[in-house]
Amino acid sequence: LFITFEGPDGSGKSTQIKKMANLLETKRLPYILTREPGGTRISDKIREIILDPEHNELTEETEILLYASSRAQHVQEKIIPALNNGKIVLCDRFMDASIAYQGYGLGKDLQTIKSINQFASQGLEPDRTYFIDVTPETGRKRMVKRAGGSHDLDRIELREKSYHQRVREGFMTIYHENSNRICYIDGEKDLNQVFDTIVNDFFAYYSH
Ligand code: C5P
Repeated sequence: LFITFEGPDGSGKSTQIKKMANLLETKRLPYILTREPGGTRISDKIREIILDPEHNELTEETEILLYASSRAQHVQEKIIPALNNGKIVLCDRFMDASIAYQGYGLGKDLQTIKSINQFASQGLEPDRTYFIDVTPETGRKRMVKRAGGSHDLDRIELREKSYHQRVREGFMTIYHENSNRICYIDGEKDLNQVFDTIVNDFFAYYSH
């Protein structure tokens, strides 16, 4: 079972995915917790290149291909083997993030982004996705709080508000186009309420 968590920066998805991992642990369900960009040694190196705020000469095309490279390594080295071993894979971001951030955010051709990433992920798609939605205002506040000040934000987080607005709207569109797979979660709500919604949906999905 391949489960992904998506949403704008500061939506709280990393907190929720960790709570989910803890719950699976206590229920003794076999799982792995992983994230993108990253998840393997090579992908983590690529992550550093992408997110370093000093890499301002990095072109948009390079950014797209680096995310895809990071994913290609991650899928082949980590996700597919875990799925083959019957594990639940909890993944913090996946393909939807590329469509939202590089497609809608940067305004790049969506079909191109999709085909590059389908190649990278060998056609692998999540079974279920939690889209945790927050406004760019809430997201920014939480990001700054987490980073202990705006000086510690990554290269993408530092982009202007209109970029983050386009990303959020992108996620919304992706959700509407894939409402069978994607479960919408209101991330403005209290952390425990958000978690309950995810857990209820997950076990309903898991048991059928
Ligand atoms: O999920 P997390 O906050 O760890 O993501 C790291 C950074 O990478 C974030 O700033 C996120 O917006 C960015 N990102 C991106 N495009 C993706 C995936 C992540 O710009 N496809």
